[in-house]
Amino acid sequence: MKKRKVCVLLILIVAVVLAVGWMRTDPEVRCTSARAIAENIAGQGMICLVEQSMEHPKAALTFDDGPDARYTSVLLDGLRARNIKASFFLLGEKIEQNPDLVRRMQEEGHLVGNHTYHHVQLDKLSDAKAREEILKTNNLIYETTGIYPQYMRPPFGAWKKNLELRVEMMPVFWTIDTLDWKVQNTEQIIKTVEETVKDGAIILMHDEYKTTVEAALKVADSLKEKGYELVTVDELIMP
Ligand SMILES: [Zn+2]
Repeated sequence: MKKRKVCVLLILIVAVVLAVGWMRTDPEVRCTSARAIAENIAGQGMICLVEQSMEHPKAALTFDDGPDARYTSVLLDGLRARNIKASFFLLGEKIEQNPDLVRRMQEEGHLVGNHTYHHVQLDKLSDAKAREEILKTNNLIYETTGIYPQYMRPPFGAWKKNLELRVEMMPVFWTIDTLDWKVQNTEQIIKTVEETVKDGAIILMHDEYKTTVEAALKVADSLKEKGYELVTVDELIMP
């Protein structure tokens, strides 16, 4: 075999061995070892590229059924103190009762989405009624924040076929249902998230319970410690 062919073969073998090792390593170690390799073989430019490509796992905290006059501001304070952005899917009737909280969500960088006006099950309504529930809430969000929403969470996860085309909105579901409204137990909510969280998780909660707000902030701290970046849902759906 010619020298050149042997060389190419050797490079390929090394690449495969490195790739397999890479895949078996956990993300934290992977990040450190990639940086070490870059430091050995290249300069600052490659180190920057490596750092950019070392993405953290991401998760989104999402809150339905608000804004709540008692607990949403406590949650917003906690999120602001941690510099975390969350996603809120709001009920039209509650927007009318708490417009200042909606403005605050918008001003502090959270995603403001739609959860229908009356918390209705959309697939049980006529097309016209379903559209009305969504558009009335969109208009309220627009009048309150100046931004027309693009995302909505259908109550009960029930969506009508092709409704997204008629209202030009993206329905957002979830990957982790904390059942926070049912258990109303801080430790139980945290346990559910910690046992099931993975990259790309969309965590469903409701900011109308004290236990949920406590759990959400503790979950935020523990996910950050685990290396997660907490983002709004649009960043997971359209990165
Ligand atoms: Zn709901």
